[in-house]
Amino acid sequence: MCGIVGYVGPRDVVSVLLDGLRRLEYRGYDSAGVAVVDGGRVLGSKRVGKLANLEHVLETNPLHGSAGIGHTRWATHGRPSDQNAHPHLDCDGRIAVIHNGIIENHAGLRAELIAKGHRFASETDTEVVAHLLEEFYKGDLVTAVRETLARVSGAYALGVLCADAPEQLVFARNGASPLIIGLGEGETFVASDIPAILNYTRRELIVQEGEVVVVTRNGAKISTFGGQHIDREITQINWDVGSAEKGGFKHFMLKEIYEQPKVVKDTLVGRITEQGGVNLAELQLSDEHLRGVEKVTMFACGSAFYAAAYGMYLIRQLARLPVELELASEFRYSDPVVDKRTLAVAVSQSGETADTLEAVRVAKAGHATLLAVTNVVGSALARAADATLFMQAGPEIGVAATKTFTAQCVDMALLAIHLARVRGATDEALLLELGRALRDLPALVDQALNADEEVAPVARRIADAKTMLYIGRHVNFPIALEGALKLKEISYIHAEGYAAGEMKHGPIALLDDKVPVVVLATRGPVQEKILSNMAEAKARDSRIIAVANPHDDAAIEHADVVFTVPSTHHLIQPIVNVVPLYLLAYHIADRKGCDVDQPRNLAKTVTVE
Ligand code: GLU
Repeated sequence: MCGIVGYVGPRDVVSVLLDGLRRLEYRGYDSAGVAVVDGGRVLGSKRVGKLANLEHVLETNPLHGSAGIGHTRWATHGRPSDQNAHPHLDCDGRIAVIHNGIIENHAGLRAELIAKGHRFASETDTEVVAHLLEEFYKGDLVTAVRETLARVSGAYALGVLCADAPEQLVFARNGASPLIIGLGEGETFVASDIPAILNYTRRELIVQEGEVVVVTRNGAKISTFGGQHIDREITQINWDVGSAEKGGFKHFMLKEIYEQPKVVKDTLVGRITEQGGVNLAELQLSDEHLRGVEKVTMFACGSAFYAAAYGMYLIRQLARLPVELELASEFRYSDPVVDKRTLAVAVSQSGETADTLEAVRVAKAGHATLLAVTNVVGSALARAADATLFMQAGPEIGVAATKTFTAQCVDMALLAIHLARVRGATDEALLLELGRALRDLPALVDQALNADEEVAPVARRIADAKTMLYIGRHVNFPIALEGALKLKEISYIHAEGYAAGEMKHGPIALLDDKVPVVVLATRGPVQEKILSNMAEAKARDSRIIAVANPHDDAAIEHADVVFTVPSTHHLIQPIVNVVPLYLLAYHIADRKGCDVDQPRNLAKTVTVE
């Protein structure tokens, strides 16, 4: 995981690096560090903990230089500490390295380098790179980098600076570690993602796997590891910088919860007609190809997995296809059965999730057609895919996913309707009805945000709970899972999402007056069943919090508290129902004084397996 930045140019180097790191802190915040070249020396500073600790040190001991690199860490090898913070140096302190990812053969290399007399200062896998560079450096940094890359295996984005090269940085990328170059006038920026440098430039080069980049004030030269020059087209970024800022909300997460109506609307743009017809011509998978699909295999991690689960119900029911769903981290080791008639659907907000990318490799090896659902253009997932359905959610800064989950669910509904139509599997009238429900969804999600007023006082009353249960059935089961995950992630309260019918097979044993139960009780074919489950929980003295449609007396009867959400078609209703669950998790976490945007032990984009 982690975020890396670099800068060469006339501005105050450390200020630019810190500015970039601030925007990358969501990627990891175990420690932060910078290094600069100044008068033929490498100078650096690094501190365990959040970026503020480093900033504090730099205020009293400022650094200046002509070029610099910076890092915010999410530890994989070696605990969070000052010593393990990046940048890492060679023995003479003349070469500095930052790294995102894992060097898999670090143990053997470390032993070899120690035998040659190198002295290690950290427990990280990264430090071997600094010492290998020292071994290979004979006055030409780029050659030394190439020779080093030939010795290391694993996934990484690496950044290197050297005391002898005051206006040059060298970066390299292998595997799922994103790297972006920002081109300015007489200055060049480097970062793990686009928002980190958007304040400075919108002209970007997206570095791909297996590439080395030599960065100077005049731009960047990209080549293969072997040294072959690559012409990369400049990508012009049109994102609004303000959309990556908090915009008046107390936390990014709350802002992002409130962005859901817009995100749903943006994700539907150009894909749905006034009459409710769904058009996914952008997919570039021919109707004939989709008619030949015999099975859909879906995989993802975390919230994206729950969005995929929602998609599974819809695709199965509407497109009448067998659907398998598996966690990406399990799929890849499960010897899955896929072939050229399998449509593999991989869902990942960042498109850089290491487990998902590994599952992609397995699916592709079996000749499945790969359909990516992601938020990031140019991401590894989008590049690997035969077709991509983008989410249009904009950057999400809060570590816990909210608006991107909603956008993923919208994409899932669009995909299911599209597949159903192409395959002639469901009556056109129903598909149009669902299409119109999607078309009207932004306004309904907006109305669901009105639950905020009901949610805040409830959150105050239950913030002391030690455990909570979330139950739902059918398409609302994934929403129960997502609601529980959100509470766990940001409030550290134990919560379980359960298929309501399973309650009697175990979790009902947990229930008493101290365990609140959140019930997804909106109208639909299984509502009666869920109302029985609600009554069962009530009979065990649990406090019942129901998500229900207006004036639905049957749902309201057994509930202690009701979060009212507007009605839509029951297959689309889950996308409305998740809104109060996000607000509930948010208010509980905020009430408890938790770090909502950067929960402990988590990072936004999980680029390690
Ligand atoms: N493996 C390196 C470390 O543990 C980098 C991890 C990261 O990507 O933050 O320091």
